[in-house]
Amino acid sequence: MERQMDRSLWDEISPDAGDTGVIVQWFGAPCLCRCRHCSLRNTGRDTTVPFQHARALADRFAAWKTEQGMSDFSVDMLVGYSLDYPELPEVVAFNTAHGGTAPYFPIKGQRFRAEDELRSHLLFLAEIGVTCVCLTFFGLRDYHDRFCMRKGDFDQTMLIARLTAECGLERRESIILSHESTADAPELVRLLDEIPGIKGRSIEPWDYRGRAERLENERLTIADVESLSPQIRQYAGQGSYTSEAAWLSRIRAGDYPLKHGRVYLVTVCEDSIKALESADCGEIVSGMRAQNESFLRSIPCMAELAAVYGDASNDRYYRLRDLEWKWTDRYLQDHPEVNPAGRFDDLNTVVLWH
Ligand code: SF4
Repeated sequence: MERQMDRSLWDEISPDAGDTGVIVQWFGAPCLCRCRHCSLRNTGRDTTVPFQHARALADRFAAWKTEQGMSDFSVDMLVGYSLDYPELPEVVAFNTAHGGTAPYFPIKGQRFRAEDELRSHLLFLAEIGVTCVCLTFFGLRDYHDRFCMRKGDFDQTMLIARLTAECGLERRESIILSHESTADAPELVRLLDEIPGIKGRSIEPWDYRGRAERLENERLTIADVESLSPQIRQYAGQGSYTSEAAWLSRIRAGDYPLKHGRVYLVTVCEDSIKALESADCGEIVSGMRAQNESFLRSIPCMAELAAVYGDASNDRYYRLRDLEWKWTDRYLQDHPEVNPAGRFDDLNTVVLWH
């Protein structure tokens, strides 16, 4: 029997929270990396559901949003595992027309291209409306290639960085650091600073999701971040990240942000397609909302999770939601009577709060 609780994760939602959008996801485009932290757990097994089913569902959501008069509600398509697939121009056009995300392009996991072909590819991206490419680095060459399990990936990513500006694209860089790769950061940033055309850069640990759930011992620590020079530390998301120990103090003091927006991730795959195609959009959204509410009501609030599972000696670096997901997993292990449907997982049809 499920236990009654005074406060649950459902009480961690801001009273003025709202629905901000839906993302129709389709994972039928192969990615050639096997990143150790992959939130999608890419193994090379792509969905066999044809792309047009996802596109048709996205069109239905766009029409539904208009019918409902939801002007602040975005409808996006997210195609993975890589963004190298023939229907890319129509997805960019769709997201530009209906979506909430800028037409930027996380360029990773694509087949390697020689310089001339890569230049043509980047020019093609600019032509179809991509304005910015986002490059991910994990460290210097050896560590980076080992981490994404593809030899040559670092050199290909650096080549893309060098070609973006001449192809009329902006460049953002996401540097995902671990405890082990922190020492690579100064030289990596120096190499990247030599390449003109950068629009933005972030230095972060990986999220606690997907395959990264097994990498806790390698997670970046606050001591690692503090070992970086101020010039490099400026890129680390210090407002939203801190150590587990510091989060525990903030949770005890009630000094932490509430959830304020809900996005519906609707995944088109073998397991979901029949149900998605036989329901209308309002039913899909209300079903997801109900499942999410029921799940959050079955998990204790952050203060209670922190009291049971928080580790005051842990100086690893987290966003608050990473700790919520980590402690929720511990709670589910200890309480097999709780229905885990609704637990966040990028591959599922599930609600993502922000
Ligand atoms: S490039 Fe992206 S999808 Fe591919 S393995 Fe890495 S994180 Fe996963």
